[in-house]
Amino acid sequence: MGTTTFTKKSLGLETVEPALTPTPTDKATTLPKKPRLGTGRSKKRDIPEGLWTKCPKCQAMVFDKELDENLKVCPKCNHHFPIGSRERIHSLVETCTFEEMDAQMTSVDMLSFQGVDTYASKLESHQKKTALKDAVVTGICKIGEDRAALGVMDFSFLGGSMGSVVGEKLTRLIERATEKELPVIIISSSGGARMYEGMFSLMQMAKTCGALAYHAKSKLPYISLLTDPTMAGVMASFATVGDLILAEPGAMIGFAGPRVIKDTTQAELPPGFQTAEFLLEHGLIDAIVPRTELKPRLCYYLDYLMEGREERAASGK
Ligand SMILES: [Zn+2]
Repeated sequence: MGTTTFTKKSLGLETVEPALTPTPTDKATTLPKKPRLGTGRSKKRDIPEGLWTKCPKCQAMVFDKELDENLKVCPKCNHHFPIGSRERIHSLVETCTFEEMDAQMTSVDMLSFQGVDTYASKLESHQKKTALKDAVVTGICKIGEDRAALGVMDFSFLGGSMGSVVGEKLTRLIERATEKELPVIIISSSGGARMYEGMFSLMQMAKTCGALAYHAKSKLPYISLLTDPTMAGVMASFATVGDLILAEPGAMIGFAGPRVIKDTTQAELPPGFQTAEFLLEHGLIDAIVPRTELKPRLCYYLDYLMEGREERAASGK
């Protein structure tokens, strides 16, 4: 019996062997494969880093300088890459007119939040990485002929999350605009409320909307621009209460993420769900404005919205 099982085993080995018989050819193929991998790597090494960016939409290699000149929009397929707050401000406002507000305001770790990392260390590393103090830059500026209060969020700082600093800076901006009778423009890019600040970050939703209500009471316009992505707490507060709600092409906009909605509703989501184009069709957004056309479009809207007001103010005097 023992011998038979042994022979069976050897048969088994024999059956394995035929499968391995082309080993010499396998070896032959594995050998040239290695240099192929090697040449691929060396080719990549030949391209200096930071000169080219691969477009995730059309897969084209875009020269970084060309991308910068085109405000981080792919010249081939019009894909909008993320853009920093400083770069955005530079592209919109008249030279030397931006008076930044509360530039040094930073968050306090009120809850002594401990996760994989502490909140304090997260803040410190992001401040170093982005050279920003928090996820929004605010200030009074001139866009074309009009003075405006401008707030620009930066997704690279903790996912553009809204904590007490983002809320406070935006509220102060809106209050200054109300006081100086200026229109407000807020450019959002956010993953939502900042979980490290718990309830304090949720309170910012009511605070910013309250300030905007007083601004609206003074019959001053507020333009909200939603960029990729604008989600959750920001979407559920100041981002969607604009007199004009604009969005960048292809931006992802929503409250909960599509996976959460799909799991909760157990239903298939319609194509293009939570994109700017879908929301324009369904009436949430007033217009989709490509980044390269944003400045002239803002000038046009501001002229239109502020014109009557100036005339009324003049006649009142
Ligand atoms: Zn592209």
